[in-house]
Amino acid sequence: MAQRLRIIPNLDREDARGAEGPLRPFPEPEKWHDHVELDANEWPKMIEKRYSLVPTTCFNCESACGLLAYVDKETGQVSKFEGNPHHPGSRGRNCAKGPATINQINDTERILHPMKRVGPRGEGGWERISWDDALDEISTKIRESLKTGAKDRVVYHVGRPGHEGYTNRVLKAWGVDGHNSHTTICSAGARTGYSLWQRHDRPSPDHANAKVILLTSSHLETGHYFNPHAQRILEGMMDGAKLVVIDPRLSNTAAMADHWLPTWPGSESALFLSWASMILERELFDKDFLENWVNWEEWMKADHPEEERDFERFIELLREEYSQYTPEFAATECKIPVEQVIEVGEIVANAGSRLATHVWRAAAIGNLGGWQVSRTLHLLNVLTGSVGTEGGTSPNSWSKYKPDLFDVPPDPDGWNELHFPPEYTLSHYEMSHILPHLIKDGRGSMDVYFTRVFNPVWTYPDGFSWIEMLQNEDSVGCHVALTPTWNETAFFADYVLPMGHASERHDVNSYATSSGKWVAFRQPVLREYARREGKEVEFTHEVNPGEVWEEDEFWNELSWRIDDGTMGIREHFMSPYREGERITIDEYYQYMFERIPGLSEAAEAEGTDPLGYMRKHGAFLIEEATYNKHQEEGWPTPSGKQELYSKSMEEFGYPEHSIPHYRVMSHVHPDNLQGDDEYCLLPNFRLPQHIHSRSANAKWLAEIAHRNPLWVHPRDAAKLGVSEGDLLKIETEIGWFVDKVWVTEGIKPGIVGCSHHIGRWRRKQDSGNRYMTNEVEIEDMGGGRMRMRTVSGVRPWESEDPDTNRVWWRDGGVHQNITHAVQPDPISGAHCWLQKVKISRPVDGESYGDVEVDTNKSFEYYKKWNEMAKDAERHPRGERRPLWMNRPLPPRKEHWFIRK
Ligand code: SF4
Repeated sequence: MAQRLRIIPNLDREDARGAEGPLRPFPEPEKWHDHVELDANEWPKMIEKRYSLVPTTCFNCESACGLLAYVDKETGQVSKFEGNPHHPGSRGRNCAKGPATINQINDTERILHPMKRVGPRGEGGWERISWDDALDEISTKIRESLKTGAKDRVVYHVGRPGHEGYTNRVLKAWGVDGHNSHTTICSAGARTGYSLWQRHDRPSPDHANAKVILLTSSHLETGHYFNPHAQRILEGMMDGAKLVVIDPRLSNTAAMADHWLPTWPGSESALFLSWASMILERELFDKDFLENWVNWEEWMKADHPEEERDFERFIELLREEYSQYTPEFAATECKIPVEQVIEVGEIVANAGSRLATHVWRAAAIGNLGGWQVSRTLHLLNVLTGSVGTEGGTSPNSWSKYKPDLFDVPPDPDGWNELHFPPEYTLSHYEMSHILPHLIKDGRGSMDVYFTRVFNPVWTYPDGFSWIEMLQNEDSVGCHVALTPTWNETAFFADYVLPMGHASERHDVNSYATSSGKWVAFRQPVLREYARREGKEVEFTHEVNPGEVWEEDEFWNELSWRIDDGTMGIREHFMSPYREGERITIDEYYQYMFERIPGLSEAAEAEGTDPLGYMRKHGAFLIEEATYNKHQEEGWPTPSGKQELYSKSMEEFGYPEHSIPHYRVMSHVHPDNLQGDDEYCLLPNFRLPQHIHSRSANAKWLAEIAHRNPLWVHPRDAAKLGVSEGDLLKIETEIGWFVDKVWVTEGIKPGIVGCSHHIGRWRRKQDSGNRYMTNEVEIEDMGGGRMRMRTVSGVRPWESEDPDTNRVWWRDGGVHQNITHAVQPDPISGAHCWLQKVKISRPVDGESYGDVEVDTNKSFEYYKKWNEMAKDAERHPRGERRPLWMNRPLPPRKEHWFIRK
């Protein structure tokens, strides 16, 4: 009928036949430079297109899945991205964000030239500047700062990492303790819990071989390692594994689960400890693992010195210790039926060595004491003996390749207290979310501040405090934004330097997305295509669009210019192959790849060298599986074992946490909420289609998801007297926002949810990301009060891409993050994302999308939380933090001690 109405072409006409011959498998890499397929746009005509398929990796989340860029041989441009079947992590599959890389590189609003601020910072005035001038000006500022001897005034703050040591090496060459990350708003809570057990601070669950997959939060579609984990969870389930999901929200993952436990946020540890108690009671623990690989004797010595060091007695004592965590207790804390606690507990307790568990962000980053969640979750792996086993949970570092670099400069000779303030002794990463508050508190300032693929004004809590810091030239002398696309933070920069997307840059990646160990090569696709075509390319920007650079070459050039010949920086950028000459990017990766175990042999078998192999395949499997490495390597903890008992906790002033317990009550525990009037806002869940802030220029993704309504349970909707689409005003500790209601049973009563990714904005004078940004006005109301109002939602516009004029959606959502107060956990340092909120109907003059924040209040609130971490006595032997604990870019050991 559709054919006859001519809604679709006539598929039955004579020339509309299928492809001839049998179905073909995906071509082998040997054929990738001359791949022929029919042009889908021409169908039903049989028009052949010739492509060169160039492997690279996705840059949209950390997983670094393999992509294959289809370079159209007629145009010499990339026409689409698909998965790379030879990538051991992703195995040819991608989530929606991978193929949407084509939107990002073809974004008509992307930044193509370096820009320099004109007028006051943040006012929105820009002019083009040459790379030469930008590099000269920035390198001069850095040189001046370094020549003062300061080690903490030049800072590199990274949003999306994924370059395996590249900039750490650069910062070391400059001699600064200048690495900052986004980890305290992301995974620092979970990392602390894991680190206390085993120093390795991330888990790597072997989902594909598990008997039970226990997930805290939504790992199938939006958790950590998105697609690589999702495909392995599904494999495990097809082999009979049970999927248990703990999440107050019915995520896509929870919807697929055998058991969904909608626990109250922050109560997860009570649940895990009740299951631990169950395992001990029923003697389902792995005696051999516990006896040989856990520091149970240290616990007995410290807490039960009068007892004989006997394993059987240890079990009795541990059973007593955890007997308080009954199923009834867990059910009360979690607000779920006790029957469910017992039923699922039995499944977990009987998983044996095939218990794959994971928590990354979610509960561990949501709550005061969130680090307890990963610590108690890992206790289940320890008790069942599923640590490092097939189907169990291994440390992620077993599966992560660490590259050998051609030159390793000395560790920084200083300690940056803006990143690691002395009171946060166990903070796992830099206290990046309170950087503006520490600066406002008079703790320091920065000369040159790089934000790299990083958008704290929008992504972080309390964005107005970030704006305040960035606009103050005494706080930040010079702000350089390295970014492929405009964002709310770049609006407040002095220089905006365009950097490449996934197919326009070099990086090496390795992540524990499976039980094996792999390495992948993100390469600039058109550079490799040019090489295949026999053309010489010296720098990647020669083939990138406009004047887009890749970061590797940027850092090399900048470092070279900083050094006036007296600073010893250039010596760290010399070729390992050509005496006295500057290193090239090809040489950098050649050196690294020549040292990857097994790669030279694999390359030789194909008649190429390691760099040639990686250019051709894009990835290499170093080890098939990495189980049970502790049997050779032990555990890198002070005791050499898994640490049930943490002496560091005791020494650094937290004796009540010497073993895993549930002793910190979340700030959103029901007892901390004022009756029925306060709700817990769950603001940190992701949508599967979006990255925090770099997908707003991907038209396909924006079309799929562009709103962030407030999830409200029908019971709460009735109480509040609202229905679908009504407006509600959500008041946080420091301000409020107005959002639309979505009534759904997919959220636990008493909790309201709002997804993290939407509510992007630009002011009248700003550019970019119009698929996802509302136009807003920001008003300084005086006395620290800031207001943002939506002037207009998303609108179509004319450009060379006809799709920009076809944008049909108008609602760009609400920027909720900016109304959140910072809540630094005193132990892990993690920002506790969950917010206590009051909910009411907006009054006259308050409209959808409105936001108001009191930055004075936010500073007071920061002070209140900061007080929790203050204790000058918590530095045994003068140590700033435990010497055994990881720190990114660690300075020389003498700086790990507080100088009196
Ligand atoms: S999971 Fe998706 S966004 Fe992440 S690397 Fe893979 S394809 Fe890209």
